[in-house]
Amino acid sequence: MADPAAQTTIKVVCRFRPLNKSEVARGDKYIPTFQGDDCVQIAGKPYHFDRVFQSNTTQVQFYNAVAQQIVRDVLGGYNGTIFAYGQTSSGKTHTMEGDLHDPEMMGIIPRIVQDIFNYIYSMDENLEFHIKVSYFEIYLDKIKDCLDVSKINLSVHEDKNRVPYVKGCTERFVSTPEEVMDAIDEGKNNRHVAVTNMNEHSSRSHSIFLINIKQENSQTGQKFTGKLYLVDLAGSEKVGKTGAEGTVLDEAKMINKSLSSLGNVISALAEGSVSYVPYRDSKMTRILQDSLGGNCRTTMVICCSPSAFNDAETRSTLMFGQRAK
Ligand code: ADP
Ligand code: MG
Repeated sequence: MADPAAQTTIKVVCRFRPLNKSEVARGDKYIPTFQGDDCVQIAGKPYHFDRVFQSNTTQVQFYNAVAQQIVRDVLGGYNGTIFAYGQTSSGKTHTMEGDLHDPEMMGIIPRIVQDIFNYIYSMDENLEFHIKVSYFEIYLDKIKDCLDVSKINLSVHEDKNRVPYVKGCTERFVSTPEEVMDAIDEGKNNRHVAVTNMNEHSSRSHSIFLINIKQENSQTGQKFTGKLYLVDLAGSEKVGKTGAEGTVLDEAKMINKSLSSLGNVISALAEGSVSYVPYRDSKMTRILQDSLGGNCRTTMVICCSPSAFNDAETRSTLMFGQRAK
């Protein structure tokens, strides 16, 4: 039996949201057709993933199928990253956060938090846990600390083991699930306050939540650390070439560049490239370097709209996901 820890480290799953009210009202056609649990077809063309989740998938079903195992692995000392990729309004934030305070509608982040603490509470007293969280966003290639609004342009450094990290970013020590949820609420509030239109802003910035778990056995002295990055990426939609200027054009260029360098890193890792993975091409891939590929758990969630209206974006989103296979 193969070591389960040695399985393929990059997974790509795809999730379709349902048609929303205005799409239904407009009479939009529902375009995907599903085959088994790993293939979706658009206009006769099949796209294969590790799993494909249809529009009626509940938050708990998605969590159990996609995130639960990564949490186990991170508690076992592995690093991991879960990304949500897709155009604006495709369900990225629904998937990552959902409704943070509704047990049924909460997304994977609050479920991960609960799971981590349930695990800790179930362990014997010789094991000590030190958990800290950070929350930052990358906007126009600048790293902003969501837990400290005075830090608006942080930089990436390497520690003595050459592991990249965001220098000066707030690390909040937490000892209950409620403290983690408070940190998330606080970070979200800070993001809101800083901008005039949060929907627009969140679709133009990458939001990154980091959970770092250190375990120490007081009897044996054994210590180890696992960390998990949870990334709600900027919207992947193409900005129309005409009319876009100034900040909008700069945003579009930066997003395009960072998403394509993420795609390049993931596809190099998926191909098993050990010689050259272009981590240094963007701030995000540099930060995530020790939590992607190799001995890490990486899952890309490809979020899609089912409406014929978004046909072109959906195909390009599915193609991005296929590159990682
Ligand atoms: P994004 O973050 O990609 O811009 P959102 O997650 O905000 O998109 O989703 C857009 C809207 O669609 C939200 O109102 C969200 O609640 C709803 N939605 C997204 N995915 C689902 C889903 N799987 N089931 C039900 N509603 C969803
Ligand atoms: Mg969003």
